[in-house]
Amino acid sequence: MIIECPAKINLSLDVVGKREDGYHLLQMIMQTIALYDRVKITKNNEMVITCNKIDVPCDRSNIAYRAVEVMKEKFNIEDNFKIEIEKNIPVAAGLAGGSTNAAAVIKGLNDMYSLNLSIDQMKEIGLKLGADVPFFFEGGTCLAEGIGEKLTKLNDVSCHLVVAKPPINVSTKYVYQNLKLDEIAVHPDTKRIIQYINSNDIRSLAESMVNVLETVTVREYPVIFEIKNIMMEFGALGSLMSGSGPSVFGIFEDKADALKCHNRLRDYIKEVFVVSTINRGV
Ligand code: ATP
Repeated sequence: MIIECPAKINLSLDVVGKREDGYHLLQMIMQTIALYDRVKITKNNEMVITCNKIDVPCDRSNIAYRAVEVMKEKFNIEDNFKIEIEKNIPVAAGLAGGSTNAAAVIKGLNDMYSLNLSIDQMKEIGLKLGADVPFFFEGGTCLAEGIGEKLTKLNDVSCHLVVAKPPINVSTKYVYQNLKLDEIAVHPDTKRIIQYINSNDIRSLAESMVNVLETVTVREYPVIFEIKNIMMEFGALGSLMSGSGPSVFGIFEDKADALKCHNRLRDYIKEVFVVSTINRGV
């Protein structure tokens, strides 16, 4: 069984507080995009996990492996599996590549064993593995609140995008640890952004996008700001860092502009893509 699993971007990201356990409370607009990993699941004598990218761990620390373990335990599945990950989504990029793989495993095993799990049940299992996992059972455009698990479906945004992952490593932990809530100068107006989305006003949406985590990353990594500027020069309606970065995306009205921007960025960034938004998850 092969499951296609898309990446996500954040059309906005706000931190609105902190839970007692230290988790940040978020208000994000999440969007799936047509940039896919593929996860192949086959029964096997022993548990094996493989991936075409060397920076992805092929042991228990792979989130897809942990997803298998959770499913095996919960549904008394005694079989073992070979999980082959074809990774096209940049790793540690703010595009939730790991989370989408975990969602694919849950969905794949649900189908393989005819478990008939509802979307809500799969979301609940996914949340045990990571806060971004439940979103992939909805996909399209969603408001995510709480630590990312409270999802509200919005009108699906339809647009062209350039997504670029600069060759730097940004740790999600570092970004959240260095975020000072009282120093955030600009928060997104999430309510207004939702109105733009639901009225299909892509231009106003693009112009209103804010990711408060940029306050940490842009200071540390000027390349993020440079990419945003290049995207704007090439006609993007708006440009933003996704998640905790370092990936940056630009929204384009015109695909030809997106392709020109892609060609310019490709001169010095290997991982750059022209994609569109999609209206589904795994
Ligand atoms: P998020 O936006 O949810 O923080 P991300 O896109 O920043 O996710 P991932 O690509 O999910 O980050 O990877 C984060 C780390 O998790 C990587 O450094 C990698 O070592 C590890 N990892 C474990 N399993 C996977 C997987 N299946 N795919 C990618 N990375 C994985």
